[in-house]
Amino acid sequence: MTATHSTRMLILGSGPAGLSAAIYAARAGLAPIVVQGIQPGGQLTTTTDVENYPGFRDVIQGPWLMEEMQAQAEHVGARMMWDTIVDVDVSVRPFRLTGDGGHVYSCDTLVIATGAQARWLGMESETRLRGQGVSACATCDGFFYRGKKVAVIGGGNTAVEEALYLTNHSQDVTLIHRRDSLRAEKILQKRLFAHPHIKVLWNREIAEFVGGEGNQGLVAIDLKDTHSGARERIEVDGGFVAIGHHPATELFHDKIALDADGYIEVTPGTTRTSVEGVFACGDVMDKVYRQAVTAAGTGCMAALDVERFLADQDFEAEAEAASIAAE
Ligand code: FAD
Ligand code: NAP
Repeated sequence: MTATHSTRMLILGSGPAGLSAAIYAARAGLAPIVVQGIQPGGQLTTTTDVENYPGFRDVIQGPWLMEEMQAQAEHVGARMMWDTIVDVDVSVRPFRLTGDGGHVYSCDTLVIATGAQARWLGMESETRLRGQGVSACATCDGFFYRGKKVAVIGGGNTAVEEALYLTNHSQDVTLIHRRDSLRAEKILQKRLFAHPHIKVLWNREIAEFVGGEGNQGLVAIDLKDTHSGARERIEVDGGFVAIGHHPATELFHDKIALDADGYIEVTPGTTRTSVEGVFACGDVMDKVYRQAVTAAGTGCMAALDVERFLADQDFEAEAEAASIAAE
């Protein structure tokens, strides 16, 4: 049987952004509902070691961290719904959202925290070796390749930034790009080309990620020259795929302003979107930092923005009621 749930604040997404928003909002007495989506806990549930989330001296596990965040959000009064939103109407308030089982959510404010997923090349060996040498996040995993050989695949800002970042750990970084020029900003290109520990292989596609014996993980990458078709093998311990991200904003096309890459646009310094009463936080509005701690930070901002927005609305409604009563 389907039901209608009404709330002052609905949060879409249960990654670090959505759950941080939920913790702050629940503690402010807003009794938020969190719709968890198909990946309860978000991207961090797909990884193991997390070493850069503040507050933990020892290595923690991504799924454990997200279970703790959810438990904390529930403890302070947030309500979790195991549902995925398939339709959104933000043209009038209260906003109306529909879940894939037909449940309807009616809300005065909406926080979008649906995240973004890394794009992958799509080959079987890439999937098989993911987490065993193949990664899409140098900031997250670069530390594990201290003194080892690594490669980055891609030619945009992310790829160049990841290659430069990896030189903090490795003295042997190879950037592999399918064309003979980069689309990254010139200033980044200049730094890349000047770096003594980075070499660039142009006009190469990935033919295969090569695993070692047993549990050894990635040991090499087979490349194909895009002009001649010639094959070569380079030995590497880590391969970082940096060919872009895909923000989860399909539901909001033509409803909320998105930028050219599909990320939700917010008023700088806030989490306000182009629709009054709709806020966005985390990777879905951030294509630069994309970290758990930044997602949590903007989740906190979203809750505070919602609180202020609702307080203003309540104040206006009370003032209007008082002026009607005085007439
Ligand atoms: P996400 O974590 O992507 O969560 C999105 C949420 O939205 C999910 O719960 C999903 O179910 C929900 N959702 C999506 N669509 C819908 C819908 N239609 N209806 C309802 N819900 C929906 N960062 C670090 O700081 N340190 C690390 O060590 C680190 N390691 C990483 C390792 C891996 C393998 C990956 C992939 C990422 C890693 N990151 C790390 C990055 C970090 O996970 C992200 O920056 C962070 O999770 C973003 O949080 P978010 O809440 O914005 O979105
Ligand atoms: P991007 O700009 O879309 O670049 C993706 C790169 O991956 C391109 O070089 C592309 O090659 C390559 N690529 C795509 N599909 C591929 C495939 N199947 N095989 C091999 N290579 C493939 O993505 P991004 O670098 O993640 O940047 C996304 C957006 O975020 C951009 O607007 C960027 O400016 C922004 N960003 C900004 C910062 C910053 O301001 N510091 C940092 C990171 C990202 P081609 O060039 O041949 O198409």
